Amino acid sequence: MYDYDLLVVGSANADLVIGVERRPAAGETVLGGDLAVHPGGKGGNQAVAAARLGARTALLARVGDDAHGRLLLDAQRAAGVDTAGVRVGGAPTGVALITVDPSGDNSIVVSPGANARLTPADVRSAAGLVRAARVVSAQLEIPLETVVEVVRTLSPDGRFVLNPSPPRPLPDEVLALCDPLIVNEHEARVLLGGACEGDDPADWARLLLARGPRSVVVTLGAAGALVCDGSGVNRVPAPKVDAVDTTGAGDAFTAALAVGLGSGAPLADAAAHAVRVGAAAVTRRGAQESYPTLAEVESL
Ligand code: ADP
Repeated sequence: MYDYDLLVVGSANADLVIGVERRPAAGETVLGGDLAVHPGGKGGNQAVAAARLGARTALLARVGDDAHGRLLLDAQRAAGVDTAGVRVGGAPTGVALITVDPSGDNSIVVSPGANARLTPADVRSAAGLVRAARVVSAQLEIPLETVVEVVRTLSPDGRFVLNPSPPRPLPDEVLALCDPLIVNEHEARVLLGGACEGDDPADWARLLLARGPRSVVVTLGAAGALVCDGSGVNRVPAPKVDAVDTTGAGDAFTAALAVGLGSGAPLADAAAHAVRVGAAAVTRRGAQESYPTLAEVESL
């Protein structure tokens, strides 16, 4: 028996957001609106999304021994995430400095901070936690060698889900265990590079599957998702909603898919659940603040 439905191994960031009339040029200072601080990072987002859906969720991450780190831990615990695996110290908490102009365009500077110090040794020292989870999910806002250590540590029948974001080339050892590899359109194009001909995401899914993962999911925003495994490519349409903010939608989708797979659902059914969770998340502002409970998804 597993203690957790999902273990998320990944990043936790404080998103520091200021609205500005325009961005400063080099050497210039502009005044902005009030600072808003939001818990973020792909790992933290996925863990909160899964816990809000009722899954027994744990997070393996690293934050700084500072106020941002405490804020992120509080947000995880408030959502019901087990944070015993979160390492503290070694560098300041990861931060995203975000300015938003009146047209809604973002400019973002990320300081990975403690996320860059989540090491393979941290995974080895948490091997019991990795093996206590039915599904383990990761992203690439932590060092790639740490993700490699995760796949080496998985229990023999543990399932691994990867969202390779930000995208970069993946070792075969990692690709071979992804079930699924989950990419949005941008990530698919970067991973496929020169092989990414044409605009049909079904072709991208097949090309990605040929690289070694056990299954592939391509998310397509308002158009939903594509799932691809040995039995072919299937479209999963998203429900029509009034989207107000798509921040963190992909993380909600990935978490919901992982939770569905952990409950034993086939990939297509888990994806059908995940597009509903993603759609619910875009009807509210923010990332973690926008994630729905199971009851809210069912009433969509
Ligand atoms: P990312 O957030 O990584 O860029 P997508 O934009 O593909 O990923 O969105 C992930 C998922 O969130 C989609 O598969 C879909 O389920 C949901 N989603 C995103 N945008 C919308 C939208 N406008 N309407 C309904 N669902 C959406």
